[in-house]
Amino acid sequence: MILTEAMDVPSSGAGGASREADHHAAARLDRVVVTSCELFSRASPRVSLLQCQWGMKGSRLVRLGLLTLPMLLLAVASPLAGRPDIEAGRLGAKLPRAPWRDGAFHNLDPAFHRASNWTRLRFYLLGLTTIASSTHKFVPLPTAVPDVEALRKNHHAPTVTWVGHSTLLVQLDGVNLLTDPAWSERLGPLSGTVGVHRFTPPGIAFEDLPPIDVVLISHDHYDHLDEPTVRRLAGTFNPLFLVPLGIKAWLEARGISNVVELDWSDSVKVRGLEIVCAPAQHGSGRSLTDGGRRLWASWAVIGSKRFYFAGDTGYASHFEMIGHVLGPFDLAALPIGSYTPRIIARPVHMSPEEALQASRDLRASAFIGIHWGTFKLAREPYDEPPRRIAAEVERLQLDPRSVWLPKPGETLDW
Ligand code: ZN
Ligand code: ZN
Repeated sequence: MILTEAMDVPSSGAGGASREADHHAAARLDRVVVTSCELFSRASPRVSLLQCQWGMKGSRLVRLGLLTLPMLLLAVASPLAGRPDIEAGRLGAKLPRAPWRDGAFHNLDPAFHRASNWTRLRFYLLGLTTIASSTHKFVPLPTAVPDVEALRKNHHAPTVTWVGHSTLLVQLDGVNLLTDPAWSERLGPLSGTVGVHRFTPPGIAFEDLPPIDVVLISHDHYDHLDEPTVRRLAGTFNPLFLVPLGIKAWLEARGISNVVELDWSDSVKVRGLEIVCAPAQHGSGRSLTDGGRRLWASWAVIGSKRFYFAGDTGYASHFEMIGHVLGPFDLAALPIGSYTPRIIARPVHMSPEEALQASRDLRASAFIGIHWGTFKLAREPYDEPPRRIAAEVERLQLDPRSVWLPKPGETLDW
C-alpha cells in the first residue's frame, strides 16, 4: 500500500519483543550471561546465536551448551513452539520459503525492484494533491444489511461477507475467520491519528460479528494491520492470529499473545482446517526504517472447500505455483484497487485485469474482488476497478456468475 508507507512513523514493536526474548533466554541459561543474542529476532527461524558473551568457565559451559542449545534451537525453529494445542500441517511443503538477505525479506523474483525512492516520493506528493482535490470524488458504496443472526447460527455452510477493503468474514466448516481486519475510521500511525480516511462504512458493525476463531494477517501495512481493530478483536474474542514472520513480536508488544507466525510453505491445522502461509509479491514496513523486516504473505484455507486470500500483491508467477500446489480453489479473494500510478504500483499491486488472470492461474472457480471502495488511498477513481472488471469479464467471455463484487455487508455462499 503505497500512500501510507511514506507517512509512517517508527514502531517500537520488534525491538521490545527481542529484549523480552533475550531476558527469557538468559533466564533459561541460568548463570550464562547473554547479551544481544536476539534469540527471537524479527525473523525467528533465521535466528542467529552470534555475538553472545558467556560469563562461565569453559568445560561447564560446553556441557551446558551441548545440552541446552539443541533444545533451544529446536524450540526457536518451530513456529509452534509453546503451542501444543496446534498441529503443524504439510500441504504447503512444496512452496518456497521466503528469501531473506541483508536483514530483510525479499520477493521470489530476483529481478524484482520497486521504483526509486525519489519517484515514489514525487508520486506520493502528487497523489496527495490528487486525492485532496475537489475533482477526485469518493462516494460511499451502497451497503447491504447483513443477516447477523444467520451468520451467528451458521455452523456448516461456507459463506463470505465483504466488510470492506481487504476485510472478509469467511465461514468454513463451522470456523469463523477474518482477513486483514480493519474497522477504523482512519488508518495510519498513532492508531490512525494521521492517515487515510474511510469513505464506506464497514459492512458489518464490529459488535454484530459472530465469534471470531481465526484472524489472518497478510502484512504489516496500515490498511492490513490496523492496531485498534486487532486490539479490540483480541479483547473481545481472543482469536488465533496467524501472521507472517516478524508480526508476532509486533502483536506481542501490544499484549496480543494468541499468535502463530509462519514462513511461506508453513501450515497449521486449526479446528479441522489446514491453513497455509503462501508467497505474495509485495513489501512491508510501517516506518521509514523497518522496510522488509516483517514478511508479507497470502493464505490458503483448506477444509471441505478451498479458499485463497491474496493479501496485497503484484501479478507474478506465485499464483500459478500456488494453484498447482494447493488448488483448485473454490473461491479466491484478490485485490483489484490501488493500482495507479502503474510505474510505482505495478510490482506490488495488480490491475483488475491482472487480478482476473491471477484467479485463473490459481484455478479458482469463483473470484471476489477486494482492496477497493473503502479508504481514500488510491489515485484511480474509486469506482474504476469494478468497471474494468466488468469490461474484462465481457472481453474474455468469462462466466459473470463466478466473478463477485458484492456490496459491503452482503453474504454469499460458495
Ligand atoms: Zn493494501
Ligand atoms: Zn501493502
